[in-house]
Amino acid sequence: MKQYDDLRATRLYCNTCNAPMPVRERLLLILPDGYLYEYRCASCNSTLGDKKTSAAPDAAQEPYTIC
Ligand SMILES: [Zn+2]
Repeated sequence: MKQYDDLRATRLYCNTCNAPMPVRERLLLILPDGYLYEYRCASCNSTLGDKKTSAAPDAAQEPYTIC
């Protein structure tokens, strides 16, 4: 059964832009027990955060989903 408890962060506060900005999700590292993603501001490309998941990336989805 697949769980969706890690909600996709679509907007994070960017200190450079001084506003909540849409983010791009990038696969940063492949770990032995999961995947480490980073979120970068879609405007200025600053790193705004990261996320570690234990699940494989969903290949059916676009890597960059911005509403
Ligand atoms: Zn920014």
